[in-house]
Amino acid sequence: MARLLQQEGFTIKVYERDLDKDARVQGANLDLHEESGLAALKKANLLDAFYANHLPDAGKLRLMDNDGKIHLDDHADGHVAEHRPEIDRGPLRKILLESLQPGTVVWDSQFVSMKKENEGWKLLFKNGKEYYADIVIGADGANSKIRPYLSDIKPIYSGVTIIEGNIYDAGKNAPVIFNLLKGGKIFALGNEQSIILSTKGDGSIAFYTGEKVDSNWVKESGIDFKNLADVKKWFETNFSNWDGIYHELFATDKMSIVPRPLYHYTADQYWTTQSNLTIIGDAAHRMPPYAGEGVNMAMLDALELSEELLHTENIKSAFENYESKMLERAKDVTAITMQNTVELHRPDGLQYILDMFDSFNQ
Ligand SMILES: Cc1cc2nc3c(=O)[nH]c(=O)nc-3n(C[C@H](O)[C@H](O)[C@H](O)COP(=O)(O)OP(=O)(O)OC[C@H]3O[C@@H](n4cnc5c(N)ncnc54)[C@H](O)[C@@H]3O)c2cc1C
Repeated sequence: MARLLQQEGFTIKVYERDLDKDARVQGANLDLHEESGLAALKKANLLDAFYANHLPDAGKLRLMDNDGKIHLDDHADGHVAEHRPEIDRGPLRKILLESLQPGTVVWDSQFVSMKKENEGWKLLFKNGKEYYADIVIGADGANSKIRPYLSDIKPIYSGVTIIEGNIYDAGKNAPVIFNLLKGGKIFALGNEQSIILSTKGDGSIAFYTGEKVDSNWVKESGIDFKNLADVKKWFETNFSNWDGIYHELFATDKMSIVPRPLYHYTADQYWTTQSNLTIIGDAAHRMPPYAGEGVNMAMLDALELSEELLHTENIKSAFENYESKMLERAKDVTAITMQNTVELHRPDGLQYILDMFDSFNQ
């Protein structure tokens, strides 16, 4: 969003909570879609930088069951989804950051609150600093602190919680899974559970387990998610029907873990448009990751909102046009995502996804 507006002459500041550009591990790879993520990069004149950094083999998929049997294998079929190229989040973030004018990002700026001042907003940050903005575009993710200034609609629990893991130097620390991945990704389904794995460009493996549990399970399970031995014990018990190869995921301590209950918004969410505030990305439409759309939708929001701001005279009308299209689109994508979330965690989840891939190839 910042890049798209800056290249058209807007004055932009990005207030970011992270201490600096290297502050944290970035999650799993992303496949960018032609009509959304790639379209936004094209408009931002960053497609060449994207293709110089993308991972040509990372899209190759193996579909497996909990016994470790492979049911579909892009490596054997020589199939690559060229219209959905993959990239690591780290390099993508670097490309976007380096495309901005120096000093655009104000690091170590955790937004706390804001109040109306003149025609805009006075924003307050945790470090005590205050800044004025004519227009605020909230892009602060699933637990957005900006969103409540626009809408009090709360997200709904999807029924599934994931445990996200990142194994460093995976060739050494999880060699069996690393070799099975062959530089690509694995969707493993069975026992009404899932494990989604991908090979990152830096030699680590990103994965997430999915399981149907109560919304408050992370807090009430008694598992200390900062203690790897505790998490390993949970996996051994709850994934006891899964083949030993998967248990290698928790056999190393060279990894990081984050539990995430997955939420989404209702199909009919709506708010009254304001003239100096809007939201994009997960702040507007968080959803589970089972359709691979979150980043793509966030980037399409940026593309569509920037186009509206450029071509509509009045800012409030630009926000109105953007929000009505975005909410309609998010409704459809959330419905597909929720269908996948439910179906993948049913006893015949593997057959559901095999049928889905079959229909793509017809
Ligand atoms: C395990 C997993 C796998 C996924 N896989 C895919 C996939 O394959 N494809 C896909 O398209 N999507 C995927 N997603 C979804 C995707 O990650 C999100 O939809 C996307 O990151 C949303 O982008 P965003 O910019 O809105 O929010 P974020 O990426 O969450 O960025 C928000 C930014 O705001 C900052 N921030 C937060 N709070 C504050 C504050 N108070 N003050 C200042 N800064 C703040 C954060 O530090 C962060 O930099 C996945 C998600 C998960 C959890």
